Amino acid sequence: MKALVYKGPAQKAWEEIADPVLEAPTDVIVRITHTTICGTDLHILKGDVPTVTPGRVLGHEGVGVVEEVGAAVRNFKRGDPVLISCITACGSCPNCKRQMYAHCENGGWILGNTINGTQSERVRIPHAEHSLYRIPSGANEEALVMLSDILPTGFEIGVLYGQVKPGDTVAIVGAGPVGMAALLTAQFYSPARLIMIDMDANRLEVAKKFGATDVIRVGDGDAVQKVKALTDGLGVDVAIEAVGIPATFDICQSILAPGARLANVGVHGKSVELHLENLWIQNVSISTGLVNTNTTPLLLKTVQSGSIDPTRLITHRFPLAKIEEAYEVFGNAAREKALKVILSA
Ligand SMILES: [Zn+2]
Ligand SMILES: [Zn+2]
Repeated sequence: MKALVYKGPAQKAWEEIADPVLEAPTDVIVRITHTTICGTDLHILKGDVPTVTPGRVLGHEGVGVVEEVGAAVRNFKRGDPVLISCITACGSCPNCKRQMYAHCENGGWILGNTINGTQSERVRIPHAEHSLYRIPSGANEEALVMLSDILPTGFEIGVLYGQVKPGDTVAIVGAGPVGMAALLTAQFYSPARLIMIDMDANRLEVAKKFGATDVIRVGDGDAVQKVKALTDGLGVDVAIEAVGIPATFDICQSILAPGARLANVGVHGKSVELHLENLWIQNVSISTGLVNTNTTPLLLKTVQSGSIDPTRLITHRFPLAKIEEAYEVFGNAAREKALKVILSA
């Protein structure tokens, strides 16, 4: 079969490799029908993720069809259409027992990291009973690819950890796919204002269509002053950080109203300066996290009912075999006006 293989920093190839085989009775082999590229894959290609070693097939998102089923897997059979979670969960370790699947002792984020991933014609999914979700018949499979990672990430780590409530003023810093996923799912809770902050004018235009009430372009003056002006000097109830650099964290910690929540979603590679000398008296809280995907069943229902339409995040489509072209487009997202790219087999 063909797969997108990581060859070391800045090197990858779509090439022939051996088909995956069942290695444990709890495994399932899935034939991929749709997958996508994540910002994390770009971090890996920069050499930022040392757990990914040359020879690894990338990708941790996708949907497909069950081809082979291990002897211990009871809830899936050959031919079942399935959604692959970016988080592998054994379902029985102490962290899985408290729904901290991100920290599963036998899984967590392993796909496209420490084991071969989904940017491939076939993939082995360990602990399949807890790591795959059956796709309801008639569902839009492209929409469900957004449920592998970005929608639960924006929802769980941004919206739920940020405790977005009716009437809240929410600022989201970073209008990439995960920031947009937070923007879409924050609307479950009817916040009064959703302020989107980014450097890219095109993404901010898209954010308005997705429900942002206000947009602020970083670079057109001081973003912090602009948020203060929009909120009568008070600041926001929730600031969601969806970039992962010191400058964007700094905006978030500078716009908090008393009692506010700062939900960090971004993947940080450098330390940030935490201004505790200003924050200690403000009754604020700061949360962090890696997605648990425990809300995936709930999000599946909201997509099925039409309360959110994640296909709006898809800007480009390619055949799976053209994945290297897709990387070019996704890697130049601002120039290409790209949010999510879909690859279909
Ligand atoms: Zn991802
Ligand atoms: Zn576990």
